[in-house]
Amino acid sequence: MIPYGRQQISEDDISAVVSVLRSDFLTQGPAVARFEEAIAARCGIADAVAVNSATSALHIACMALGLGPGDRLWTVPNTFVASANCGRYCGATVDFVEIDPATYNMDTVSLEKKLIEAEQNGTLPRIVIPVHFGGQSCDMQRIAELARRFKFSVIEDASHAIGGSYLDKPVGCCEFSDITVFSFHPVKIITTGEGGAAVTADANLAQSMRELRTHGITRDPSRMERNSEGGWYYEQHGLGYNYRMTDISAALGESQLTRLDGFLERRRALAARYDTILAGSPVKLPGRIEGASSSWHLYVVRVPADVGGGRAKVYERMRAAGIGVNVHYIAVHLQPYYLALGFGPGDFPASELYSEEALTLPLHAGLTDEQQDTVVHALLEATH
Ligand SMILES: *Cc1c(COP(=O)(O)O)cnc(C)c1O
Repeated sequence: MIPYGRQQISEDDISAVVSVLRSDFLTQGPAVARFEEAIAARCGIADAVAVNSATSALHIACMALGLGPGDRLWTVPNTFVASANCGRYCGATVDFVEIDPATYNMDTVSLEKKLIEAEQNGTLPRIVIPVHFGGQSCDMQRIAELARRFKFSVIEDASHAIGGSYLDKPVGCCEFSDITVFSFHPVKIITTGEGGAAVTADANLAQSMRELRTHGITRDPSRMERNSEGGWYYEQHGLGYNYRMTDISAALGESQLTRLDGFLERRRALAARYDTILAGSPVKLPGRIEGASSSWHLYVVRVPADVGGGRAKVYERMRAAGIGVNVHYIAVHLQPYYLALGFGPGDFPASELYSEEALTLPLHAGLTDEQQDTVVHALLEATH
């Protein structure tokens, strides 16, 4: 099976991990701090907080921004469930904003309309989480304008988008948001096994997230409420979690990050090659956003119902041909958990239609031209 995504592990990655295993620290040692510095430098930002997953990063980002019961968090239906679940962890109400049918990112016209209605009803969100779908930035300039006007915080879910840019600035610079979150799951652009990071330009948010990832505990003398009783002393100021990243993971991430540009180059070349070879085929190719340069986590085509008997049939045929196609994403509001919270079919028609037609083709830095030709051949067979 040619997988839709796959990690790239080099001998240098393996050596980096082995050297941690031979060192004094397996967790909370120097590798995490080095990886955080490298991520922050890549984003051109002061602070990166590394954690054990992007899901954890989203959770502590919401907590640091003060999300709680009675608050509202909005995201899009076209995402992994974690972008919505983080609101539920905090006891907030989750709602969704329709996607743009051309880019599959949050539609800013729908967002503005929903905000105007919410202002009248007294139901404005405290946090909005745009998702940079497939690695391509949302219209962050517009979202930031709306954030100022309607006074909500913004967390960019950039799980797909490390290495991408927007208006010539790196995704993660946080010029248009409070916090940006990355995932280092093995199918993403770079990996730490499991892992994630939250980056921010706000030192207070960074400090708050650092405490939340480790039980709400601080060891910083300037933050103590009581006098230190000795070298062992620490204080717990809030209810945090154990969301720490291990040094083993961080060393892998640090090593992977040195190859990020090469990964991006290969992904971009493969995406451009799909564009060229599939031009004129019966599937709809991914749309481009002006000013955004995608990191190409995903290459998603749309299979309309009248092509090849529809997406499900095309999926089955391609799987049978050894092509690991996938679907990103099943609309989150139609998951049984969210249906039970009151959402239903028809709530977000553009997201639902997209979700019925989407098919993710294999795309990763290790995919060869020959494998890509095999994918294209199978797709043309399956859709004709
Ligand atoms: C992968 C992903 C996440 C969750 O990442 P983990 O590191 O697996 O927790 C969240 N949001 C989006 C959009 C993702 O693709």
